[in-house]
Amino acid sequence: MTGTSNHSPAAPPHWPALPPALAGTAITAQDSGYAAARSSYMAVGSPQLVFKARTEEHVQQAVLYAAQVRVRTGERIPFSVRSGGHGISGMSTNSGGIILDLSGLRAFELLDPESGTFRVEAGATWGQIASALAANDLVISSGNFGDTGVGGLATAGGIGYFGRAQGLTLDAMIRARLVTADGEVRWVDDTHEPELFWAVRGGATQAGIATAFDFKATALDSVPGNSRILHQQLTYVSRNLASFTAEWGQWMREAPDQMESFLTIQALGDGQHAIQARNVWAGDDAMAARPILQAAMEIAQVHDEHTQAVPYPLIVPTPNTPHVGQQRIQMRDVLVDVADEELGAALADSLGQRGTLLAELRGLGGAIARVPADATAWGNRHQEVLAGTWMHPLQMAEQDAAFAPLQQLGTGTYGAYSSDIRQDAAALAWPGATGRKLIEISEQVDPQLLFDRGLTLRQH
Ligand SMILES: Cc1cc2nc3c(=O)[nH]c(=O)nc-3n(C[C@H](O)[C@H](O)[C@H](O)COP(=O)(O)OP(=O)(O)OC[C@H]3O[C@@H](n4cnc5c(N)ncnc54)[C@H](O)[C@@H]3O)c2cc1C
Repeated sequence: MTGTSNHSPAAPPHWPALPPALAGTAITAQDSGYAAARSSYMAVGSPQLVFKARTEEHVQQAVLYAAQVRVRTGERIPFSVRSGGHGISGMSTNSGGIILDLSGLRAFELLDPESGTFRVEAGATWGQIASALAANDLVISSGNFGDTGVGGLATAGGIGYFGRAQGLTLDAMIRARLVTADGEVRWVDDTHEPELFWAVRGGATQAGIATAFDFKATALDSVPGNSRILHQQLTYVSRNLASFTAEWGQWMREAPDQMESFLTIQALGDGQHAIQARNVWAGDDAMAARPILQAAMEIAQVHDEHTQAVPYPLIVPTPNTPHVGQQRIQMRDVLVDVADEELGAALADSLGQRGTLLAELRGLGGAIARVPADATAWGNRHQEVLAGTWMHPLQMAEQDAAFAPLQQLGTGTYGAYSSDIRQDAAALAWPGATGRKLIEISEQVDPQLLFDRGLTLRQH
């Protein structure tokens, strides 16, 4: 059996029969397509049913069906929503439940080349968008990896290489097409159901399932057909991560917002650290970037340097790798107010803990910080840096211990960049008034808490 083409498998015993509207979308363990559909990038799944939606009606029907299954069985059967399948928490797959997979919804349309407005469906990937935009000399800040999905990243945040110049990915969103837990579908924006539009920008699935979005991309290059992104890769070796971090923080603070910097840091032993920097300039004025890139080379001893103007899709690599739960790591992150010596010392401490593989720093601030904290469901606007670690799979208590030095400095977290889906993490992701408003909206549009997978404020 081929899974989605022309047959409707039987629903699991005691579940309602599959509605005719979902014919040809369902995959079960008996189907040959199951191996490719069961897992995400981060987790191996064994769901009972996977719906591969090809239309918005399929999304609506799958939502209604999942709600019915819960009512009929009286059990909270896991219901996962998946777009690109790169969710760090692995919650876009499950065991014993239903997955609604939107990867078949991936249409892209440039609505207005002048303003940079484009429409894209949730199952597209950011690599696909980078290629489509590059052909029109446009860019959008998404992330550093092209296989990540539009749906999961855009509804959660989006910290990309043009973050300080253009803001989070969700800041570029103009409208979203939303299927709520009652199966209703509507466009939401600043004037149509603005509360839902607020919630879909940062609240992940707590407002509903986004099937499509309108975004505004930015023109970088004044010479048509010549868009190149200035990209500097540096490898430093530092003997003092505390002072390195403070100097990098100072460098970034003094650089114009066009400069973004992502670091990955590994312990070499003997108190030394190898630091790889990817510095990206969001502008077409290479002359203006030069002194800043030069200053980056003076932060610490540079072992390797590579600076190039590259086509935009090259900084968002898109290997289109099939998902078999291959990335068996755990990740944690915090948003930290200042990149200073204290942060550097905490990074060194965390990197010295058993199980920690590497650490990351990503510059925030700039355009991200200029958006008022109450404008979207991403309320953490004032922090200067994201600090995270990758760990071998560990028991939760060991993860907590390894991440503790950084955790204590965190005044926020990027929920979609972490494996931690506990309530303390939710409270950091959606602090204070942001969290209260999100709970209120979620209770209105999803009273039965159908969308309960992943980091959520409400508990069942
Ligand atoms: C290798 C890698 C690199 C990454 N790099 C970056 C980066 O540079 N910048 C950055 O900001 N993030 C980055 N991330 C994190 C990534 O943005 C999040 O994990 C995001 O959720 C992935 O989206 P997805 O659609 O691929 O995920 P999925 O696994 O499909 O979904 C993850 C979760 O998002 C929610 N969701 C998915 N689709 C929808 C939808 N259509 N509507 C509403 N909710 C939905 C669901 O709750 C789901 O459990 C990276 C992750 C990985 C694995």
